[in-house]
Amino acid sequence: MAASRIVIENCAIATVDAHDTVYASGHVVVEDDRIVSVGAGPAPEAPRTATGPGERAGSGERNGSGGRDGAVRRIDGTGHLVTPGLVNTHHHFYQWITRGLATDHNLFDWLVALYPVWARLDEPMVRAAARGSLAMMVRGGVTTAVDHHYVYPRGAGDLTGAIVGAAAETGVRFTLARGSMDLGASDGGLPPDFAVESPDTALAGTEEAIDRYHDPAFDAMTQIAVAPCSPFSVSTELLKQGAELARRRGVRLHTHGSETAEEVRFCEERFGMGPTDYLQSVDWLGPDVWMAHCVHMNDEDIAAFARTGTGVAHCPSSNARLAAGIARVPDLLAAGVPVGLGVDGTASNESGELHTELRNALLVGRLGPHGEKALNARQALRLATYGGARVLGRAEQIGSVEEGKLADLVLWKMDTLAHASIADPVVALVFGAPAPVALSLVGGRPVVEDGRLTTVDEDAVARATRDEARRLARIAERN
Ligand SMILES: [Zn+2]
Repeated sequence: MAASRIVIENCAIATVDAHDTVYASGHVVVEDDRIVSVGAGPAPEAPRTATGPGERAGSGERNGSGGRDGAVRRIDGTGHLVTPGLVNTHHHFYQWITRGLATDHNLFDWLVALYPVWARLDEPMVRAAARGSLAMMVRGGVTTAVDHHYVYPRGAGDLTGAIVGAAAETGVRFTLARGSMDLGASDGGLPPDFAVESPDTALAGTEEAIDRYHDPAFDAMTQIAVAPCSPFSVSTELLKQGAELARRRGVRLHTHGSETAEEVRFCEERFGMGPTDYLQSVDWLGPDVWMAHCVHMNDEDIAAFARTGTGVAHCPSSNARLAAGIARVPDLLAAGVPVGLGVDGTASNESGELHTELRNALLVGRLGPHGEKALNARQALRLATYGGARVLGRAEQIGSVEEGKLADLVLWKMDTLAHASIADPVVALVFGAPAPVALSLVGGRPVVEDGRLTTVDEDAVARATRDEARRLARIAERN
């Protein structure tokens, strides 16, 4: 089978390479699942490809045969911007069907209000919610997604299989952070007892997910991480054994850390130290670990993350909604800590798409002590792409538009009312309204065309999420 090629020309390109190279007008050539050429000006001629200059000069798009080289698709990217695909490093898909509840609560009050609802989840609900979460992100330019799923009610069915299956349908590159909670209220934890697993069940379920789904390959579409939920919902023993399991199997570790002042107090009272020292004491800092939030960190905590290469999933919208505070992203970056962006669960960020996080990382960051110097547009785009890839341990494969990398990229339409009057396309993308996605590729495969998902029926997904949200609300009300 000959290689299939996609040639995009006349577009601006923000490569997010090591030098932050931006081409005002350039080309990207994709062959099968890889980027084979990126640079200024028109694409170099492919050997033996039957294309002439007349085809390239035309406006719009041409599909044609490249003769013995297989199909060639040519796209005139005039008025468009190419960026790496967006990487979402923290999410809880199941929350898609509990959006808009407990809207005026802080983290702990919000959790206490929602745990009893979440404890009623079953497999069809989780499948519908995963499809909704994925569809929303992917249509907004996400090409790599993470789901941190930690609610496994007894008898709820194959939730892991439902989530991984939903991601595969959407065509997105995916990490399931297989979560767990074992510290119920009777043990001093926050979740009610009926919402937690035993440590043995949680670890066995996590190892089974690794056996079934984890792919360590360069072009992997599915990976598994070990992800006990948080210091206030998981026992010390489960954290320790989770770290041991992850290292034995060569997979990554993920959890929530230093999210709120209440969490810091919980750790100080229960363990005699803050969350970062506590997590370090159970072997939870390292280059194979990334943590969501990391809002309440002192200078020593940041130095510990930098020294160990521990990554951060920054979730500015969720932190604002739950009044958690403003993460010290400029200080984390200055120390060399890998930082990516996360939507977080949509029960604490109803928008569910990553553009909001790009914009809020920049805007909310400027309300902190660094003021207007906190982040600029290019740094925000880097967090959402290369930063996320680094946090997931995949920076060699994705996160920038460079030759040899997997062809995960987005062609944003920047010549409509929303952005046409802004000269710098990266500034337009980050500061402006969400840009329409003309084309999104994952490993060279289109997952969005002209703003619509190619892989799933968006309207059917929306209907199913509404039905399952209503069913969950009815069941939760009865109990
Ligand atoms: Zn979270």
